[in-house]
Amino acid sequence: MNYDLHCHSTCSDGTLSPEQLVTHAAECGVDVMALTDHDSTAGVQAARAAAQGKPIGILAGVEISVTWAGRTIHIVGLGVDTEAPGLQQGLAGIRETRADRAIRMGEKLEKKGVESATERAHALATGGLVARTHYARLLIEDGLASDVGDAIRKYLKPGKAGYVAGQWAALEDAVGWIVEAGGQAVIAHPARYNLTATKLRALIADFKRFGGRGIEVVSGSHSAQDAANMAVVARRSELHASRGSDYHGPENPWVEM
Ligand code: AMP
Ligand code: MN
Ligand code: MN
Ligand code: MN
Repeated sequence: MNYDLHCHSTCSDGTLSPEQLVTHAAECGVDVMALTDHDSTAGVQAARAAAQGKPIGILAGVEISVTWAGRTIHIVGLGVDTEAPGLQQGLAGIRETRADRAIRMGEKLEKKGVESATERAHALATGGLVARTHYARLLIEDGLASDVGDAIRKYLKPGKAGYVAGQWAALEDAVGWIVEAGGQAVIAHPARYNLTATKLRALIADFKRFGGRGIEVVSGSHSAQDAANMAVVARRSELHASRGSDYHGPENPWVEM
């Protein structure tokens, strides 16, 4: 079975609609795809409908933004009941704080000369959820960055002109919402946080205590060496190993489903 358990649609910061994403995944030979938009399950129903009659199964998923020990960590939820009230209330709370943050990020970039940044980012975010990715795309449009990663490094990470910290969920809450919704919680792209071995162990200990079950080993944000390291971590910590592209659309041709 070819699983892709992490990807994004226009319901968060992907550039393909849920329908286009499912079609693309099926063309790539994905047998089971989890749609894991940031802080939203809004695309799951459309993905399921699009999968009808195609040789692909859809898992309801989400990627929740969390603050743990002063850092942003992403927790993927797989196989969640999208109707679970605790999960939906929690996600709605995060989206509310995203809305304020989006305006503040836009103001900061406008001060740096990016014209109508707030308005343009909201126009790009057709699903209504604004992420740094949308601002990154504006910066590319204006010739200020070559790709999303470059825009984030230059303008949108801590210490840079357009950065505004998110008000994310607590790890315990995010894992709790996923577990209550009948899903499995998975630590997303663990190698991306630049944690020391000690910090990663502490994260995993907290995560497991709260009911977390898995960790991404194979990820579009991991190198082959990262994946080998995280396979060792997964075994040692007795966590399930997950696999997902973190695909956001064809803008980054080096990431494929
Ligand atoms: P936000 O949740 O609004 O802080 O936006 C975070 C999103 O920005 C991530 O989900 C990625 O899609 C994107 N992102 C962050 N860092 C990078 C990077 N170094 N390269 C490419 N995309 C990134
Ligand atoms: Mn993203
Ligand atoms: Mn992520
Ligand atoms: Mn992601």
